[in-house]
Amino acid sequence: MSEPDVSDATSEHESTDFIRELIRQDNAQGTFGGRVQTRFPPEPNGYLHIGHAKAIVTDFGIAQEFDGVCKLRFDDTNPETEDASYVAGIEEDIRWLGFEPGDAVYASDYFEQLYKWAEHLITEGLAYVDDQNAEEISDNRGGFTTPGVNSPWRDRGVEENLDLFRRMRAGEFGDGERVLRARIDMNHENMQMRDPVMYRIRHAHHYRTGDAWCIYPTYDWAHGQSDAIEGVTHSLCTLEFDSHRPLYDWYLERLPLPGDQPRQTEFARLNITHIITSKRKLRQLVEDGHVDGWDDPRMPTLRGVRRRGYPPKALRAFVNHVGLGRVNGTVEVEMLESFVRTELNAVALRRMAVLNPLKVVLTNYPANGDASESEMRSAVNNPEDESAGNREVPFSRELWIEHDDFMEDPPKKFFRLAPGREVRLRSGYFITCNDVIKDDAGNVVELHCTYDPATAGGQAPDGRKVKATIHWVSAAHAIDGQVMKYGRLFTDPHPGADGEDPLASVNPDSRTIINGAKFEPAMADIEPGQVVQFERLGYFAADTETPNLFHETVGLRDEWARIQKRK
Ligand code: ATP
Ligand code: MG
Repeated sequence: MSEPDVSDATSEHESTDFIRELIRQDNAQGTFGGRVQTRFPPEPNGYLHIGHAKAIVTDFGIAQEFDGVCKLRFDDTNPETEDASYVAGIEEDIRWLGFEPGDAVYASDYFEQLYKWAEHLITEGLAYVDDQNAEEISDNRGGFTTPGVNSPWRDRGVEENLDLFRRMRAGEFGDGERVLRARIDMNHENMQMRDPVMYRIRHAHHYRTGDAWCIYPTYDWAHGQSDAIEGVTHSLCTLEFDSHRPLYDWYLERLPLPGDQPRQTEFARLNITHIITSKRKLRQLVEDGHVDGWDDPRMPTLRGVRRRGYPPKALRAFVNHVGLGRVNGTVEVEMLESFVRTELNAVALRRMAVLNPLKVVLTNYPANGDASESEMRSAVNNPEDESAGNREVPFSRELWIEHDDFMEDPPKKFFRLAPGREVRLRSGYFITCNDVIKDDAGNVVELHCTYDPATAGGQAPDGRKVKATIHWVSAAHAIDGQVMKYGRLFTDPHPGADGEDPLASVNPDSRTIINGAKFEPAMADIEPGQVVQFERLGYFAADTETPNLFHETVGLRDEWARIQKRK
């Protein structure tokens, strides 16, 4: 298959998905006076995840392409679950992904306007106060094949409704005692249209409006109206809102709007194997201690993948590659990783690190009474990027190699180091293993080898070949470090798909902590958060806080290409 295209997709794309097509048509017909305004409306009840990246790239990206506006709107209508810390975190995550959220707007800023519009609908006979409790309302809603039952309070007069609604606002009633409902049709085939709730009573402190309100608008009552207040033209959301669209339109068609009536269009959610994209479930992972926090590198949150070392450019390219469709599906996580790998291959510096060290002593290497006699070898920083140049790597009498690169009694297909066998040390020399030193328990603890000074150029002058090149670190110069390797957070490719709790398939072994790793000295120059390729091992991101701690970003093998071949 061809390499994934990681060219910067925010500016690229003369794309032809159905939403862009729709906007071009609107512009051609002058529907919104040629204006394009979108919004990205997260609820500040958790941090953003990879699924949100699709919505962000869509909302902000489309606005950019059409010289329009995209606002970040906090859809903060649920006082119990929302928090200011999420507001700041979400803004930070959007910037990291490469978009400028500007000054955010808040649904809670429209509470007064929404209230006035609710009174307007009451006055028109289009909304009523219902004294039924939540259970009765739910029981009387009916089902897909059975009609709903009208509330006994449905035909209250306008004056009584206004009076009760004002008293709801004034705090005269307890939580759940009354709701305001739209008066639509209890027999409507679309369940969303069966007199949906507009306001519920919640005597709860809101992180922005404090105790000013004790009635809070529902999503459906707040969303379209917020769009209209801001001047949104194209309200883009995920497919599960498709059945809400008639309600979205119903409200807007009945209100004295300040401008054009916005229009909702739905696209498919981004679903990825082995990943969950529900803030509620992600919070549970944090609260139940399955991960260290929202920014744990195993988390599919934007702050998690940032710590893991995913380049924002790769995420944008991935999301654009998946594209906008109207059919829900799931893409393989290996495809996401393939985009990450392709981008890192282009930009990441190469370094040598040994995760499971085995000592090699070069018995014929000059030693002045100690092991510190050394020379500098030149190594290429990134074969994909000439401008990254070269670095010096110290080579000396005692080296670390990977334990796995040696076998005392190798099977046929093992071509690396073994007794009597010669291999190449990358950017070093050919070495031959002569003696295997063991401890009392029989474990291999050291190898005695000789090196061939004539192989400095990476080839033997007599033309003899070696079958393997391995990496190494000079023992006297090594930096001690720690590495975290990661497996899938969920063993099930579709966590929760059978209706079971997705957390049932949390992988208890998703993290392997490797202490005692050995890094070459040039690792000291790596900045917090920077990703390097450990030669032959994979890509690893420097922790943003702890020095010499690295998180495995992604391996070197393109599993996605293999999956494609199988298909
Ligand atoms: P969650 O259940 O994780 O809270 P949500 O949809 O309720 O998800 P919001 O913060 O309300 O999260 O969503 C903000 C926007 O992001 C919405 O427009 C929503 O449709 C979109 N979005 C959320 N998840 C995805 C996803 N997996 N793929 C694409 N868009 C998504
Ligand atoms: Mg939500």
